Amino acid sequence: MFDKEYISRLFTLNPTIKALLQDAQNPRMARNLLRVYVDEVSQMLNKNSQKIQPLEWVLQNKCLQALKRIISVRSERLSKFSIVKLLWLLANGYDNDLPKDLDDGFFEEMIHLLLGIHGKSGIYDDERIPEFANLHGRQAAKIRSIKLDELGLKNKDYILKYPSGMDEDIIEQRAENRKFILAQYGASEKDWNNYLWQIRHIIRNADELEKLITLTDEEKTAIKKARGGKLPFGITPYYVSLMDRDPDRRRDHAVRAQVIPPLNYVDAMLAHRDDRESSFDFMLEHDTSPIDLITRRYPMIVILKPYNTCSQICVYCQRNWEIDDVYAKRALATKSKVMQAIDWLREHPSINEVLVTGGDPLVMRDERIDFVLSELAKLEHIERIRIGSRTPVVLPQRYTDSLVNTIAKYHVPGKREIVLVTHFEHPYEITPESMQAVQKIRLKGMSAYNQAVFTVENSRRFELVALRRHLRLIGVDPYYSFNTKGKEETRNYRVPLARLQQEIEEEARLFPGLVRTDEAVYNVPGLGKNYIRAGQNHSLLTILPNGRRVYEFHPWEKNLSLADTYIDTDVSIYDYLKELERRGENIEDYKTIWYYF
Ligand code: SF4
Repeated sequence: MFDKEYISRLFTLNPTIKALLQDAQNPRMARNLLRVYVDEVSQMLNKNSQKIQPLEWVLQNKCLQALKRIISVRSERLSKFSIVKLLWLLANGYDNDLPKDLDDGFFEEMIHLLLGIHGKSGIYDDERIPEFANLHGRQAAKIRSIKLDELGLKNKDYILKYPSGMDEDIIEQRAENRKFILAQYGASEKDWNNYLWQIRHIIRNADELEKLITLTDEEKTAIKKARGGKLPFGITPYYVSLMDRDPDRRRDHAVRAQVIPPLNYVDAMLAHRDDRESSFDFMLEHDTSPIDLITRRYPMIVILKPYNTCSQICVYCQRNWEIDDVYAKRALATKSKVMQAIDWLREHPSINEVLVTGGDPLVMRDERIDFVLSELAKLEHIERIRIGSRTPVVLPQRYTDSLVNTIAKYHVPGKREIVLVTHFEHPYEITPESMQAVQKIRLKGMSAYNQAVFTVENSRRFELVALRRHLRLIGVDPYYSFNTKGKEETRNYRVPLARLQQEIEEEARLFPGLVRTDEAVYNVPGLGKNYIRAGQNHSLLTILPNGRRVYEFHPWEKNLSLADTYIDTDVSIYDYLKELERRGENIEDYKTIWYYF
């Protein structure tokens, strides 16, 4: 359903478009007239370029190009939707033929696009060319510095909105949480610091969890339903101590959301109980696994998965279709299976990097980790072993001297590098304990990197910047920021691609290069990473009636060899902004989001 007012708002904004759509006898004719209109506006823009502020001119052109693309025959063919036909129906009042799912999100997109074309985006309305631009020397520098101070302090205020687990009051709060949890189990601080105690006390159901924190009715129902349907679920006592007792999710939203599934997720997973492989294997791991335990999407890098479970289960895990329950016995690959994968690697000398992941390989016993690393180290062509593990975040006690020494002995400068790749999502997850775990790795000369998934839980203005800042301070380099995958069962978490582009352009880039070392990527199913920073690597195809954009993503092989592009439907910007508003954000702060295509 949509607000009918939108139709007149849209066409009042551009009566010329309305008139030509009404002149057209059918959508085909409408497209031809629209094309002519776009070309004329383009010529006008070029002719008048001297009269238009350069940045406004760039934006107008960008919007015009977007309009040109979405009305093209090719876009229609690839997206299987005709925006021209929809506009034609709207202009001619054929209300009965309008798509049933037409909603406000579509109109908001179109209105912003037209405003952009007309130079009325409003982005630069309050801006004047700064005073220092007309000055020189020390005088210019001083005035510029005052302006930069204002901007810097504004950014700082944004960052300070987000509490970190390194804040004194939160450290104290968590000490209380820890005491409370230990009292429930009649355990000691020594137990707490023993990772085996943590593993033995992983919380596996709602009743257990409710003894430690307050759950909302919905949280309780979702966990119970998930467990009833045998969906993997588990949380370490340490990670529970990062949650606030009160369930309002004001500060611990990202922590709770990481492990407590929403009801619609549980329902989707249960509905696809028998076909999860085909429904949820978004990255098409089946089609990229030449042998058991190995995934290969790139010429020189492979993934090795010796363990198919973790110390706790993340709701939006990419591999939710196959991950086993916490510490399930069958999750451990047999030694002979691992050896078959190693033998396969031996026959492929073009590969020089292995990402050992899972599941979480660092929840295997030290001996088994040693076995996997020692076999990989025998392969002369493997120069780098990346270990993908969430243990610094959810089980920092795992970083015993024994584990760190086991890993470190294979880190041989000049010959082979061992790297830890972890997955902090929010500054609230960063604690003195996680810092200690990371520092143990760093002190042995190994590096630690982070891969964050950009979800609704960490996507507010400067929230990811706050994460990056704290990561650097504890010794972790930001590495990737992943756009949430198009997995429908995790739609509550998804953020439009435009917001990630906006984050890079308007937030990340204000900070020093060493803090924003991560690359924003969209993982193309079966193909691999698409660097969304580069506008030429993806393009907008259309806007669907429900306000969701459809994009075409280019494969990494572009300009190297032939490969197909990939078409994906994003979540609606309008719906996302409504969710931010529900969370107390002023959506005016995000107004430029519509202009990232
Ligand atoms: S730690 Fe990684 S593999 Fe394990 S559940 Fe979380 S996202 Fe999935």
